[in-house]
Amino acid sequence: MEIKKENKVVDFIKKYGVYVAVGVVVFAVALTFTLLATLGGSVRTSVDNTNFVMPMSDASIVKDYSDTNLQLNETLNQWEAHLSVDLTSENSDVFAVLGGTVSSVDYEYLKGYVVTIDHGNGFVSTYSSLADGVSVEEGDRVSAGQKIGSASESASGELELGSHLHFTLMLNDEYVNPNDYLDLQLK
Ligand SMILES: [Zn+2]
Repeated sequence: MEIKKENKVVDFIKKYGVYVAVGVVVFAVALTFTLLATLGGSVRTSVDNTNFVMPMSDASIVKDYSDTNLQLNETLNQWEAHLSVDLTSENSDVFAVLGGTVSSVDYEYLKGYVVTIDHGNGFVSTYSSLADGVSVEEGDRVSAGQKIGSASESASGELELGSHLHFTLMLNDEYVNPNDYLDLQLK
């Protein structure tokens, strides 16, 4: 009985060994392509291919980004770097610039109502001077272009600018100039 079984196994290998070998090769090739595609995917989340949308529609800049050139803050009567871009628009709607997760919804006296979104690829966007009653909560998943709130005068530290959005962009925990990633100067 044992011999018969062994013969069956040998017969099987003789008959189908080639197919098994081909199967293994096909599987290995498929696995390699899957791994390459996965690695390629993580490379694709680099800066160049990140498709940001505008945080406001038809917006104009009321105060631009500056890191080395200090700007006068008339409200606080002090010269300061402005590591953000202030935008205003007839339509006060404020939109997420990229999909992500709302990491916080806060209120600070000088910044007003603030929504922060972690985009999961190193970018974190922050929207300050929002009106009370923002449209999202901490932990919410948002998509690019989704309305998250409205621009207002809630930022007591920038009252002289009137109703506006104070927009901040960070990459890997460092402030970056939003103009390098979004066409904010269009209007
Ligand atoms: Zn500002």
